[in-house]
Amino acid sequence: MAIATETQQPQSQHQHKASSEVSDGEQRRWTLNDFDIGKPLGRGKFGHVYLAREKRSNHIVALKVLFKSQLQQSQVEHQLRREVEIQSHLRHPHILRLYGYFYDQAYLFLCLYIIRIYPCIKRVYLILEYAPKGELYKELQKCKYFSERRAATYVASLARALIYCHGKHVIHRDIKPENLLIGAQGELKIADFGWSVHTFNRRRTMCGTLDYLPPEMVESVEHDASVDIWSLGVLCYEFLYGVPPFEAKEHSDTYRRIVQVDLKFPPKPIVSSAAKDLISQMLVKDSTQRLPLHKLLEHPWIVQNAEPSGVYRG
Ligand code: AMP
Repeated sequence: MAIATETQQPQSQHQHKASSEVSDGEQRRWTLNDFDIGKPLGRGKFGHVYLAREKRSNHIVALKVLFKSQLQQSQVEHQLRREVEIQSHLRHPHILRLYGYFYDQAYLFLCLYIIRIYPCIKRVYLILEYAPKGELYKELQKCKYFSERRAATYVASLARALIYCHGKHVIHRDIKPENLLIGAQGELKIADFGWSVHTFNRRRTMCGTLDYLPPEMVESVEHDASVDIWSLGVLCYEFLYGVPPFEAKEHSDTYRRIVQVDLKFPPKPIVSSAAKDLISQMLVKDSTQRLPLHKLLEHPWIVQNAEPSGVYRG
């Protein structure tokens, strides 16, 4: 892989550049000219994602283009900076690689007593690993719910990715189908680290989507890495039943159901008691009592159903 990573501090040069290393140790600064831009892959809240080819290596990537004005308006620049910082340092087969970033600068001329030139960033570009099979949530919508083999394979691969993150003191805090992409072999990739945090302490911030939030986060009390075990439990339920467990028409009802851990298993679709047992051990109000992720990997339902390769081929 010729593109490697580690973007550095922005350069105030006209040639719109940021630095990054290439695998042979050479310093490299990316610009838009380094890429052939292909078809649009999708549209997010803050910009567009395009298929792109790095010209020198022919490596295919996804180029995410974000508009600084929109980031500023929504006050998420800090969140993006944190996302880039965290994701670019993670290396795991089930975590989408962030190879680097760059941005373009227009120049704003201000004329007071003297002419002054201020650089003004318009767009930020993230160079991401391309996930050819797209979004998991679309797959889930198409299938309504997954087979136990497929669900267990996905849950085990996410547990491995989260064990890796937690080992680096990174908690994701926003595990949900919309943040998962599917790689070329059918393997899951955690794609969005917008709400993740690098921490050694317990935190209080409320973030993420309500359906996947654990009781300690909806109640805004301190939380730690075990929030990701809860969200993985919610995801496992949604894989098997097609809907998240605490779904309700009103936000306030979802909130109440989460806080009371109002967990019900509908009669249809038919789900094994081993799967229900695993979910019940993850969706536990007392965060210290949730099944640790390494124990999850030894749970009979995972052992019997998950593909050891982490790849679901259908
Ligand atoms: P986002 O702005 O991250 O929500 O991305 C918008 C859409 O672009 C997603 O819903 C995906 O369909 C697509 N997309 C984003 N990143 C990638 C990627 N790395 N590989 C393939 N498709 C992607």
